[in-house]
Amino acid sequence: METKCKICGEKIEVAEDSMAGELLECPSCGMSYEITSINGNTVSIKNAENVGEDWGE
Ligand SMILES: [Zn+2]
Repeated sequence: METKCKICGEKIEVAEDSMAGELLECPSCGMSYEITSINGNTVSIKNAENVGEDWGE
């Protein structure tokens, strides 16, 4: 499986046995992502640095 970096568009390899909540790192720009869901071969990611800060206050 694979997904795309939101910043630079580089392809990010995702292991076949990955699960939601695992962290990924873009090999090109180093941006950290967290897997939010996996649906078939579609891997959804979010910026890992924003964890805990996106819920509003
Ligand atoms: Zn990148």
